[in-house]
Amino acid sequence: MKSLVLERKDDLSLRDVPEIDRAEQDLGPHDVRIKLHTVGICGSDVHYYTHGKIGPFEVKAPMILGHEASGTVIETGADVTTLKPGDRVCMEPGIPDPNSKATRMGMYNIDPAVRFWATPPVHGILRPTCVHPEAFTFKLPDTVSFAEAAMVEPLAVGVHAATKARVRPGDIAVVLGAGPIGLVTALSALAAGCARVYVTDIAEKKLEIAGSLSRAITPVNVTSENLVEVVKRDTDGWGADLVFEATGSPRAAAQIFEPLAPGGCVVMIGGQPDPISYDAGAAMVREARVENIFRYAHVFPRCVAMLASGAIDVKPLITRTFEFDDSVHAFEVAASAPPADVKMQIVLPQ
Ligand SMILES: [Zn+2]
Repeated sequence: MKSLVLERKDDLSLRDVPEIDRAEQDLGPHDVRIKLHTVGICGSDVHYYTHGKIGPFEVKAPMILGHEASGTVIETGADVTTLKPGDRVCMEPGIPDPNSKATRMGMYNIDPAVRFWATPPVHGILRPTCVHPEAFTFKLPDTVSFAEAAMVEPLAVGVHAATKARVRPGDIAVVLGAGPIGLVTALSALAAGCARVYVTDIAEKKLEIAGSLSRAITPVNVTSENLVEVVKRDTDGWGADLVFEATGSPRAAAQIFEPLAPGGCVVMIGGQPDPISYDAGAAMVREARVENIFRYAHVFPRCVAMLASGAIDVKPLITRTFEFDDSVHAFEVAASAPPADVKMQIVLPQ
């Protein structure tokens, strides 16, 4: 039962992790055992690999990577009612304390006690099986593939961002960044009713993928085009109703209000490792609303429903797939940040 283990910064191995087999020997009454099928490689997994930490979370002991997953239920706890062996599922990777104040207030994603896969010291799921609560495990319809289902986790970030933005039909949006999170945000903004979404990046291939997703997406390469000019030109000088920041770049954040229309909303999605400054004066004269998001809450069923109905298609974002035996190599490729790739996934042996 080999797992993909981040031993320490820059050091990955495929090996047995006996302590996790022991810890998951018994199934709680509300838990299910899942055979993993597909796991997406997330920017956070790669960052732990190359930097050993993200903000306050530091890899101090060997940790199994991976948190974007789909699989098949192989065993259910005594009190599980909604799932049975053989069900295909995707899993929400953060488990909050059910009795915490944040959870009781409906904001379980910002529960300080949340245990999230592959966030130190919690192990991730690049391993053959895992045990997970029924409440955070979602059944897939036959029309949603394992590969698409492993995209539900990043898609949930985009759906949560669009929800926080309070998109109205016909809104004009800007998404800064055409990585996986930028593109799922653009798709979520369109699904929520945006008339047009401008997606920026510096990698032409990523922008080509962005433009291929919908006629309503306009790619903007910021190395050759001025985003503010493009948006102002197309909106009679008014600006965009919504601006989503999905680059995590302090430079992008510093200019976040420039393309924004009066009364518009900015949503900060990209993680910023250090404090950043933004133009409070530009925000003031627009009476800009600023929202911040941290992961997501209560959106996995919506994501599955949109994939099932075709309201959102994430398949074009999956640009490369690796076998589990090849997963150390997969991370080396991901760490090199190939400009033509959006989402890479790893498929486990079945
Ligand atoms: Zn992720």
